Amino acid sequence: MSPIRLLPAAVADAIAAGEVVERPASVVKELCENAIDAGARRLDIVVEGGGIERCRVVDDGSGIPATELRLALARHATSKISEAGDLAAVATLGFRGEALASIAAVAEVVITSRPAGAAAGARCRARAAEVVEEGPAACAPGTTVEVRDLFFATPARLRFMRAARAEITAAVRVAADLALSHPEVAITCTADGRVAVRTPGGTLRDAARGVFGTAAAARLLDVDAPGDVAVAGMIAAPLAHRASRSALVLVVNGRRVHNRALTVAVEEAYRGLMPAGRHPYGVVIVTLDPETVDVNVHPAKREVRFRHEGAVFAAVQRACWAALRGLQTTVAETPVAEMAAAAYPTLAFAETAGAWGAAVAVAGGDIGSTITDPTMGVGFPADGADGSGARGALGVGPLRAVGQAGSTWMVAESPSGLVVVDPHAAHEKVLYAQLVAAWDAAGVDRAASGSQLLLLPVTVDCEPATVARVESETELLSRMGFAVEPFGPTSVCCRAIPVACSAADPARLVADLLDALEGDAGPLPERRHRLAASLACHSAVRFGDALEPGEQQQLLDRLAETPGAATCPHGRPTVMILDDAVLRRAFRRPAR
Ligand code: ADP
Ligand code: MG
Repeated sequence: MSPIRLLPAAVADAIAAGEVVERPASVVKELCENAIDAGARRLDIVVEGGGIERCRVVDDGSGIPATELRLALARHATSKISEAGDLAAVATLGFRGEALASIAAVAEVVITSRPAGAAAGARCRARAAEVVEEGPAACAPGTTVEVRDLFFATPARLRFMRAARAEITAAVRVAADLALSHPEVAITCTADGRVAVRTPGGTLRDAARGVFGTAAAARLLDVDAPGDVAVAGMIAAPLAHRASRSALVLVVNGRRVHNRALTVAVEEAYRGLMPAGRHPYGVVIVTLDPETVDVNVHPAKREVRFRHEGAVFAAVQRACWAALRGLQTTVAETPVAEMAAAAYPTLAFAETAGAWGAAVAVAGGDIGSTITDPTMGVGFPADGADGSGARGALGVGPLRAVGQAGSTWMVAESPSGLVVVDPHAAHEKVLYAQLVAAWDAAGVDRAASGSQLLLLPVTVDCEPATVARVESETELLSRMGFAVEPFGPTSVCCRAIPVACSAADPARLVADLLDALEGDAGPLPERRHRLAASLACHSAVRFGDALEPGEQQQLLDRLAETPGAATCPHGRPTVMILDDAVLRRAFRRPAR
């Protein structure tokens, strides 16, 4: 790395000014980024007392020569840029040359460093921006930066600090983000004595295991779409989801960023596959011409702006969609473990405890902690379980109907094992996919019709306001496959319905449609989703309807070719796979 030098004032001014040290997590971030910029292959992060008492980062990077230690703490001292022109294409994470100085202004900082080739190391201790101690030090090659008593000089700031716990969480998140954006670096983060993140330095999947836990990482699907805007990474299968957006990590040109539009692009790809209000997790890595990205919009470099935002959005959405569609050609991705958890609490325990004997001992006992609401598809074993029973994509291939139990559950056979099907949820998903496909086709080709003329038009009575609504929604309705128009002041007449709904009673279907239109607002794709989900629900067989063997097989055949077949439009599971391994455990037969 080039020597550290003071930036000329003009360059310093060209950089958006900003306070770097907002909270302990930002200290951790700056220290780690410096280490990565210095070529570190191993990072050891320690955070104690909410990060206010102590943050320490040990790296095995290129080190800082003894003569430059003092300079590293000076404002606008950086070895990374020297001319304003360099700013446009910054490849390193840090470049303002003010992080260490800002931190040293509000804390005690001790830097101990030894460049790779140097015979010995050196140490420099500064407090409130004053160097208070300097001299040789015995240390391994690399750099250790320790920050103590953060904000000691500004007690007002301390008062406004969030609770120590929240600070620790934020610092751990920084470590996790770095682990995912730099999987090749081995990162350990110990927070108040507990190892919160540990990655081996290897592939992205290795890093994901260390961050999300083995079981959650096993549900990640690869994203890989090369191009001018290349999109890579891993995103969670639809049945695995989280309550918040915080576990979806975006990386742009090697830098962890936050960007609302890109988050939306990823979530759009899950539309109809995931329950409302739940969020995917994973890492989405976007690589594009750095000239088209502005990283200098936020003082802590957290946000980016794209010159061609629409193109980046489209590329991300397409890439995620392709990744999800990879498992949509068959009834795929019914993670065995959570399905078993939903059905057999004892098995859920066996998965997490890894010992069947233990499960038997507590069967019927207090095992609720491993099970959350199974209907939401989140009855997973906790993160960190060995994940042996958990699978990501699991193709089951064709389904052969075996029969229906009572008039409720359908049983089928697949190459992966026994499959239990919720006929209503399955049918709902098939119809939903058909409605959406017809809508899309109608958008491309007006003549393409997912619409079926009724032999006898039906009229439905309604409020005058609803008549007006129908009149203003003809576009939406015709794309959905309806031909509905006002028929006097208090009724509408329907001449055609979507083919997907042809089994439904037309008068009831139209009444349901009018209900669904009531108060419905929002962007078109969302309305399409809601309308299609509602129509599919009303047109699908009821749970409790007996199906003929031929009807069962037909439903299974259609399900097998439906995109995202494993979940209904509301995100609930449609099928549960009981494979040989699960059944063997249940019947206590030796594993094969
Ligand atoms: P910036 O990262 O923006 O250049 P910093 O204040 O974060 O500014 O760091 C100042 C300089 O100190 C860096 O440019 C780098 O030369 C040196 N430095 C800081 N931390 C390390 C480290 N862990 N290993 C090697 N050099 C470092
Ligand atoms: Mg820096």
